[in-house]
Amino acid sequence: MGLNMRSNSVSFKTFGCKVNQYEVDKIRTSLLSNGSFSESDDHKESNLIIINTCTVTEEAYKECLKFVKRIKRRNPQARVVVTGCAVTSNYDTFKSIEGINLFINSRKVDIQDFISQTYNIATPNIESNSTLTTRYFLKIQDGCDLNCSYCIIPSVRGTSKSRPLTEVIQEFKNAIKHGYKEIVLTGIHLGSYGKDLGTSISAAVSSLIQINGDFRIRLSSIEADEVKSDLINLFNYDQTKLCPHLHLPLQSGDDSILRTMRRRYNTKQYLKVIDELRAKNPDFGFTTDVIVGFPDESSDNFANTIKVLEYVQFHRIHSFPYSPRNNTDAYKLPDINPQLKKSRMKIIQELSAKLFRNYATRFFNEHITILIESDNLGYSQHYLKASVNIPVTKNTFTLSKVLSIIDGDIVCQPVIT
Ligand code: SF4
Repeated sequence: MGLNMRSNSVSFKTFGCKVNQYEVDKIRTSLLSNGSFSESDDHKESNLIIINTCTVTEEAYKECLKFVKRIKRRNPQARVVVTGCAVTSNYDTFKSIEGINLFINSRKVDIQDFISQTYNIATPNIESNSTLTTRYFLKIQDGCDLNCSYCIIPSVRGTSKSRPLTEVIQEFKNAIKHGYKEIVLTGIHLGSYGKDLGTSISAAVSSLIQINGDFRIRLSSIEADEVKSDLINLFNYDQTKLCPHLHLPLQSGDDSILRTMRRRYNTKQYLKVIDELRAKNPDFGFTTDVIVGFPDESSDNFANTIKVLEYVQFHRIHSFPYSPRNNTDAYKLPDINPQLKKSRMKIIQELSAKLFRNYATRFFNEHITILIESDNLGYSQHYLKASVNIPVTKNTFTLSKVLSIIDGDIVCQPVIT
């Protein structure tokens, strides 16, 4: 075990959402960019471990807690920094774990100060990015003003706060300058961007797609009731710069369950957004989240969810078995039979695979543009994972013809121009 590996090596563990990923990427960039640290992917080896936690479900929180306890046993000498939503939701529990050097959530920038003091290194400048990948997660908003009955996030991330558009444009341009090809706009409640600044998500997107450069923009996840006509028009305005794909959490396809969840749309309103986007582009791609087995979910309620999923033809369904989350209003509602929840999860997962095949088959013998990330693999503009059958330079947009769809993998032939 070389001295270099043991001195100043850092490893990261990110749980949860793209906002968590963005926050860890920022810390990673700042630590690696001036050579003060090397990255290790082995937590047993590194002498600094940074963990960004999640608390969106009881399972997520328990997994983080288990990981933090285990990491200290596996690498007692390492300095461990724990941050993220689970630290806020269950501070005392984490605080009781021995040997953790820093617990912090609200002011993540303090992590860098802790590191520069502990390791006696200058707090590195965040701009000089040396960890080039292909997709750049750009956090433009944090927090949430809504109160879905099953969700703890507003109580751990606070109210919605948008980053000034000038700052967003600056970081966007910097990412382009550093060679990123796809910028993923992300936030805890992306659709509420700008409400606190007198602007909107569509105004932000409109400004960004006018920036010169060879890139495309993807929206990470947005609520259906926030996809208004001005945003829909932007998708019709430029389909090369704005990926024709949206991740629209549905959660349930039954209006009475949506009311109990305190979601702000009904199925009719949700499907209207789908129809409007598909009217202009029949191949527009949709992915979604579904909570399976929410309290009182009857077989009829569940059947309504299946109907909506089949109508939309999502090409990826993230399904989650409902898990009661303490400190949420839904927590006191009676949970349904776990076996029933399990069998419904299986039905949704099988449906997701079938709908993927249906959607992918649309592109058979057609052309898609893949952004190659690594090992000839990447994502199309519709967010279909695809591979090319000849070596292609990483981080390039590759126009490709779909040759086959095998077991969820789309195989393509690059079009040599
Ligand atoms: S929109 Fe609902 S589910 Fe999403 S973070 Fe806000 S309260 Fe939670």
